[in-house]
Amino acid sequence: MSFTSTFFNDTINLLYPVVCPGCGSDSLSAGQVLCFDCINEMPVTDFYLHEQNPVERIFRGRLPLISACAHVYFTKDSAIQNMLHRLKYGGRKEIGIYMGKLIGEDLKTTAPGKSLQGLVPLPLNNKKQKKRGYNQAQVICEGIASKMNIPVLNDVIVRKKNTETQTHKSRAERWNNIEGKFELSNAAKVMNKHVLLVDDVVTTGATLESCGTELLKARGLQLSIAAFAYTTL
Ligand SMILES: [Zn+2]
Repeated sequence: MSFTSTFFNDTINLLYPVVCPGCGSDSLSAGQVLCFDCINEMPVTDFYLHEQNPVERIFRGRLPLISACAHVYFTKDSAIQNMLHRLKYGGRKEIGIYMGKLIGEDLKTTAPGKSLQGLVPLPLNNKKQKKRGYNQAQVICEGIASKMNIPVLNDVIVRKKNTETQTHKSRAERWNNIEGKFELSNAAKVMNKHVLLVDDVVTTGATLESCGTELLKARGLQLSIAAFAYTTL
């Protein structure tokens, strides 16, 4: 984050006290990320306890995975949506750390979680990352890392620069071309390792599938997937 935006955010926090990113309540005590009501009402999935969970089913036949899970159910106009929105567009990085810690708490108790050796955030395209100041998936990884003692492996995989000519493509084709392509940039770093690919939300799984397929090109790599929220919307 640049000095200007850090300065800007600090100033905003002084002018407007930090509110709960879930419900907007200002009854947050020092060091608390979410208010007690939002914590108590969090729609936890417990998917990590079940091998045949809905996130695993998304990827069945598409990606060979060791495990897949999401911590909460995503619904519209909910505290979860508010949290994700503030993480992505409100500069509230601490929300991502908090989400990661919750995922880490889940995973560290499971057999697949215990065998993890690295965390790989789903890369954001450069334009979005510049605008946001950070990649929210990377921030979530930092939260997971703090609970599990596993390194965050940045720069293992990158969004591919779009080189094909776009002129004769439809809008949807152009979007796919820009959003959906990844390139393994450091296979040696993940070779023969069990890595966790991480994103904020899993819906159709298309982007995670595309990224996971590329990661699996690294020899001996074993793949698991985790997201903070799951939705079929
Ligand atoms: Zn709240």
